[in-house]
Amino acid sequence: MALTVVSRADDAAALDSRGTPRRVTVLGSTGSVGRSTVDLLLRNPGDFTVEAVTANRNAKALAEQARQLGASFAAVADPAEYGVLKEALSGSGIEVACGAEAVVEAAERPADMVMAGIVGAAGLASTLAAVRRGKIVAFANKETLVCAGGLFMQEVAAHGATLLPVDSEHNAIWQCFDFERVEGIEKITLTCSGGPFREKSVDEMRAATLKQAVAHPVWNMGAKISIDSATLMNKGLEIIEAHHLFRLPSEQIDVVIHPQSVIHGLVTYHDGSVLAHMGTPDMRTPIAYVLGWPCRTAAPMQRLDLVTVGRLTFERPDPVRFPALRLAREALVQGGGAPTVLNAANETAVHAFIEGRIGFLDIVAVVEETLAALPVGALGSLDDVYHIDGEARALAAELAAHRARNHPAADTDRA
Ligand code: NDP
Repeated sequence: MALTVVSRADDAAALDSRGTPRRVTVLGSTGSVGRSTVDLLLRNPGDFTVEAVTANRNAKALAEQARQLGASFAAVADPAEYGVLKEALSGSGIEVACGAEAVVEAAERPADMVMAGIVGAAGLASTLAAVRRGKIVAFANKETLVCAGGLFMQEVAAHGATLLPVDSEHNAIWQCFDFERVEGIEKITLTCSGGPFREKSVDEMRAATLKQAVAHPVWNMGAKISIDSATLMNKGLEIIEAHHLFRLPSEQIDVVIHPQSVIHGLVTYHDGSVLAHMGTPDMRTPIAYVLGWPCRTAAPMQRLDLVTVGRLTFERPDPVRFPALRLAREALVQGGGAPTVLNAANETAVHAFIEGRIGFLDIVAVVEETLAALPVGALGSLDDVYHIDGEARALAAELAAHRARNHPAADTDRA
């Protein structure tokens, strides 16, 4: 069997012997994953050329990247930023466009690989467009897989696309996972730093500010995933992501808190062997592996020195302070549109927290209430995904507004 998550055998053969640079498109190039990708592309100019880059609003940074990379096309999702992008790229010969359709167009343009680095379900249409080209998708945008689930994987299979996991835990497991003999695999383990509130009490978490929630102790990431890491919803989303990528049920996907973030993922085999992937916590390692796959791309980050690290520690996640893990597992087992609701409610609640409308503990409470209140059936089509996603966002917004009235910031606003 070929690496089904992950690949078609002929891709591997073709890329092994590639003599020409790989042409890459970076969706979400101005974000955290996007900037790390751009950094690696610029460091290895002989190995890569760039077709397109995209952003939501950050037109200035996008224009600078497009010039540095010699991209052919740059698209900004927010039409209000079109003028800035156009002016910044005037005379460059780089084609510019705006709107959600332009981001999809970027994904559809001819490239050997598309980095799906947009955050949230907003990336679904463009990531699917990349999948439908049947080429390689460097897959970071986990929310798309959580919200569209089996339908997303059906598109991957139907179009013969190759999905390469960028998320550090899934990338680690991919490197240790024997796709030829999956029957020998007992379980996989996703490690988790525990986030900024690993040792905080419920009261401290209730009072947590945005600044505290995004101050991740190990990884340097975008705001949304940093907050997801603080609630541990990120690990919940990753359980669902791993279920689809590695075709394992919830009970074969373990989560262990590992504050040093040196071991990123483990695969346990029936004979007791455990294969683990290690590295310093820098997203450029998994991104470099994906960009060059099946070859290794040179990457500059600090090398792992186990003696300097000294101690590696592990603990179980606390289900009382971090109920998001349970909710994600329940949604996965329930199936159908439940993960879609989980993801949409979480995005809505995180947004409300970022805007100071609800407290930190309200985020997961809103997700739980939305899941409980919204009856969902099977996902028959992508239209169902968009429909359920919309319903869940509307309900979660209402529930968040209700909680906002009891949030101290509401009093401050009124004062
Ligand atoms: P960021 O918030 O840092 O960046 C998001 C990118 O998406 C930016 O380029 C942003 O543009 C763009 N974007 C946001 N909204 C839209 C929209 N509506 N339409 C088009 N583009 C949009 O996110 P991260 O880089 O942290 O995360 C990206 C994805 O990768 C997420 O799914 C995350 O879970 C996953 N991931 C991230 C990791 C990390 O280390 N950061 C690790 C593992 C996975 P603009 O700059 O203009 O706002």
